Amino acid sequence: MKIAIYPGTFDPITNGHLDILERAAAIFDLVYIAIAVNVDKKPVFTVDERIEMIRQSTAKFKNVRIDHFNGLVVDYAGKVDATVIIRGLRAVSDFEFEFQMALTNRQLNEIIDTVFLMPHVDYTYLSSSTVREIAKFGGDVSRFVPRHVKNELYKKLKG
Ligand code: ADP
Repeated sequence: MKIAIYPGTFDPITNGHLDILERAAAIFDLVYIAIAVNVDKKPVFTVDERIEMIRQSTAKFKNVRIDHFNGLVVDYAGKVDATVIIRGLRAVSDFEFEFQMALTNRQLNEIIDTVFLMPHVDYTYLSSSTVREIAKFGGDVSRFVPRHVKNELYKKLKG
């Protein structure tokens, strides 16, 4: 059984994340989408809110589990018997950081490989921060996030 983890901040989950998750779920037997809790970023949504938005967005996937973790990604991967870390690559600008992180993670645990997936071209420039910014000023985020996430964004951010 090939198990992968898809770690991230997911503040909030977007259609870009879901695109990557769908591709990963088609390749691996089981995928844990896992919120990294102790990152330096100051998330807008609480862990519970993010989990709930992910839960509603991923109900159609039978081989996806939702989780959160503190500490090193490789340690979490080991805990759930995963040998693969999924990351999404949008533009070349993602590459340098992701390359560094993938090779560092390999030094920490050489059994675990990072697999990069590219989203549909429509989501190439999509990020949670862009979506938050648009929602904050009342713009339409319907193309970028599921409807229930859009509602949560407006509730949290608009005026
Ligand atoms: P992190 O703080 O780890 O970057 P994010 O929630 O921003 O967390 O992203 C998690 C993963 O999803 C990262 O690998 C990121 O590159 C990827 N990702 C985010 N948005 C997109 C998108 N629109 N298309 C493809 N991958 C994406």
